[in-house]
Amino acid sequence: MRKLISSITLTGLTMSLLAQFANAAEVYAPVPDKIKGVMNNAAPSDAIVLFDGSDLDAWQSAGNDEAAAWTIEDGVVTVNNGAGSIKTRQAFDNFQLHIEWSPTATIKGEGQSRGNSGIFLNSIFELQVLDSWENPTYVNGQAGSVYLQHAPLVNVSRPPGAWQSYDIIFKAPVYAASGELESPAYLTVFHNGVLILNNVKILGATYTEEPEYSTRCTPYGQTREQDCSGPMPLTLQDHGQLVSFRNIWLRELH
Ligand code: MG
Repeated sequence: MRKLISSITLTGLTMSLLAQFANAAEVYAPVPDKIKGVMNNAAPSDAIVLFDGSDLDAWQSAGNDEAAAWTIEDGVVTVNNGAGSIKTRQAFDNFQLHIEWSPTATIKGEGQSRGNSGIFLNSIFELQVLDSWENPTYVNGQAGSVYLQHAPLVNVSRPPGAWQSYDIIFKAPVYAASGELESPAYLTVFHNGVLILNNVKILGATYTEEPEYSTRCTPYGQTREQDCSGPMPLTLQDHGQLVSFRNIWLRELH
């Protein structure tokens, strides 16, 4: 009993000392939300699941309002060549995205014609998906590049047929009410768990001769110019080659 009393006294003393010397820099609110994280790349409890292997309800054709017509088999969705690119029905601002992808196991073509697809952030900035396993091409067009803008820091590609992952942190561009760009987009990407793009500044829309920002744009796979100053869908590219995707989830960052 004496031991217990002494321990309580000591704890009380420690607490009071701690309180006395509490650093004014300590912050106690707001308290971060408690969420359930998980291992093995499964979606955390606060994620928006965009594809869990069962259906493409979260997606639609990028070129029109029709349902996404890519092929689902054994929990995996594969580009349906000719069906066109697909985009999410929901629009997003800043986010964390997990996506797994795999070029066809059969090696076909070379360079940009081997396992080419892409993840268009805001539907206009392409993070390249390509079979970059022993498949040289221009470095700002290989897997993990911001197409024609930034090469990845390293090539972490696995052989064709193997599953690969991107974990993406995307900060969307911000425009003033006048339409002027206040802040460009920034991108961080881990490829198969390795950092390949470290908070790089995106220079503007992909495929424009001089990449630039504008509140008006024509998203990839679409023909209609539209307002793109706010939240935008995510687009997956049909580049005419067989690339599969699985386990796609996103956490909005506010
Ligand atoms: Mg591509």
